[in-house]
Amino acid sequence: MTPRVLLLGGVDPSGGAGLTIDATVVALHHGEALPVPLVITEQNRHGFHRQHPVRPEVWCRVFESVLADGPVHAAKVGLIGDAATVRTVARELTALGPDVPILVDPVLSATAGGYLAPADLAPAYREHLVGKATLFTPNVPELLAIFGGDAAAALAAGARAVLVKGGHAEDPRCEDVLFQGRDRIAFARERLVVGPVRGTGCVLASAIATRLAAGASVGDACRHAGDWLAALLRTLGPPVDGLPRRLPLARIAPRIERS
Ligand code: PLP
Repeated sequence: MTPRVLLLGGVDPSGGAGLTIDATVVALHHGEALPVPLVITEQNRHGFHRQHPVRPEVWCRVFESVLADGPVHAAKVGLIGDAATVRTVARELTALGPDVPILVDPVLSATAGGYLAPADLAPAYREHLVGKATLFTPNVPELLAIFGGDAAAALAAGARAVLVKGGHAEDPRCEDVLFQGRDRIAFARERLVVGPVRGTGCVLASAIATRLAAGASVGDACRHAGDWLAALLRTLGPPVDGLPRRLPLARIAPRIERS
């Protein structure tokens, strides 16, 4: 079975983050990507300039056409630009039924700089969307903004598991911590000096979602996707010009011979 992964999120035309990179990661993990755009962004390595939410009557129809086309084995929710869309996404996701794992990856800032999430976005995640998540994947600042830094509060809001990503912390080891019921599993990895890199959150979440779609447990999916991302980051080498870089996904893709 080829895992089919529904991707709800933003279009980054410079390809450093968002649905295009999500779809690439799903394909690299032997899955099929089903991308539904919720927001179009104007951004590149120099900054995140503006976002344009897609009208709900448009993306909801796109979403329905995807669901009518075959099974979905997991869903990943990425960039959402406004609180009203958070609520609509939470409502529409019920169409997937209770057995499809849903990964909610909140986005409140952009590595390119210049993106300020609307003030009502964090409360909308807390009140409407986190409760739908099989796995909720905030980084430390996002957990702070949405739940005051308390992973237990995210579990109490209905998330079945929470992966708190330590990429933004300062410790010499980079630690992601998975909270599930009463269990706490830490995944500690070497902190790499690579400078700003775009799309790391998107790539990790898409890799986890594809593994969940293929039937992996949440713990195994987080561990293996995190190890895979760390290996990818190690191929980057030291920073070049201080501007955010893209992850070198093309370098690890299977080679297609030119004829
Ligand atoms: N733009 C889009 C469309 C995204 O989906 C995301 C993250 O999910 C971002 C920008 C921010 O990503 P990063 O800070 O990793 O560049």
